[in-house]
Amino acid sequence: MPSAIYERLHEHIFEIHIIDTHEHIPDEAVAIGRKKSLFSFFEHYVSSDLVSAGMPRESLETMRDETNSLSLADRWDLMAPYWPYARTTGYGRAFTGYMHDLFGIVDINEDSYQELSARIASAQRPGWHREVLRDRARIDKAIVTTWPGEPVRSDRGLLLSSPIFDHYATVSTRAELQALEKEAGQSIQTLPQLMQAQEAGLDRMVKGGAVAVKIFLAYQRPLLFEPVEQAQASRVFDRIWLSQPRDLKFEDVKPLQDFMTRRLVGLAAERGLPIQIHTGMQEGNGNHLTNARPTLLTNLFLDFPDARFDVFHAGYPYWRETAVLAKYFANVYADLAWLHAISPRAAATILDEWLEIIPSNKILGVGGDSNYVEGAYGHTQTARRITCDVLAAKVETGGLSIDEAQWLATRILRENAIEALRLNV
Ligand SMILES: [Zn+2]
Repeated sequence: MPSAIYERLHEHIFEIHIIDTHEHIPDEAVAIGRKKSLFSFFEHYVSSDLVSAGMPRESLETMRDETNSLSLADRWDLMAPYWPYARTTGYGRAFTGYMHDLFGIVDINEDSYQELSARIASAQRPGWHREVLRDRARIDKAIVTTWPGEPVRSDRGLLLSSPIFDHYATVSTRAELQALEKEAGQSIQTLPQLMQAQEAGLDRMVKGGAVAVKIFLAYQRPLLFEPVEQAQASRVFDRIWLSQPRDLKFEDVKPLQDFMTRRLVGLAAERGLPIQIHTGMQEGNGNHLTNARPTLLTNLFLDFPDARFDVFHAGYPYWRETAVLAKYFANVYADLAWLHAISPRAAATILDEWLEIIPSNKILGVGGDSNYVEGAYGHTQTARRITCDVLAAKVETGGLSIDEAQWLATRILRENAIEALRLNV
């Protein structure tokens, strides 16, 4: 039986209009234009658990490719040997949970996958995104990441844009330079021209409605960005321009990457644009976890006191590092985005401990990090429930009044993000 305290808090928390700090949702026209079934939802997350459970990558690709002629039964047969092992993870449970809520199918099994797929397909109609995000998930604004080269997508209403802008730093071949020239609409034959193109590109994105900039480099290199003289970065640029990349290793291009990334941070700070950074566990299978340690960013936090950093994914499993960084630095915010799908239990433990370590205005408590509105809905529901569990326990043990718990919930799920990211809502 939930206590009266829990019920009061629950009622309050499920009314909050969430500011969701991180999603990957495509435009509705794109999403509903695709053929959809249960198996379209294996672009990320549960798919990684199927692979780590032993599913061959080729089988996964065949199963989730909706353009091939496989029947639903063929797809199910590919997944069935591994699903029992993946369904119990945070990803599996989140997935089963939102499928149940949105499509009314209690369990995903060989008796239900056909009907569930039919219901998913028939839900894909204009208005579905708004219905799920606004009406069901009660999301006021969601910050959506766009990939390098993609136009900034922002309806300035529900979805706000946070472009990944790393490709000006990671350019490492002549062909990539030429692609950048095309994107930037200018010649890039020297480092100063690359710098100019980076700045102009950032300004175009701000003009187009970007509210933040995202650094995604922890997927491919360590997050330590050391100070580099322009002359040294210039020498790397020249080697790339002269088409010497065949013998360029990471150590060779690192000075240019460091220089350009630090410059991006400086430019973002000048424009009042927060910097969202992937830290901690990388999505997918097989990566260097230690590349993504939040403490590798310490020199950026020190060297750019005017920049505001939104440190993603709690830096999981280095979430205590994130806690101390957000405690040390006024310009560092600790963000729980994605954690509720990785492990609701971990999210609860982290939020509980963070509330003791970090001033509460520095905690950003919800980001669905999903490629689908359905996932965004599911993950924000879990975030509400976990926030409720953690705060109710603090009230019940006398650590908080119910009024303060309600106020904290609104801060964590909404107002901190508005303040930290300077959103105009
Ligand atoms: Zn993400």
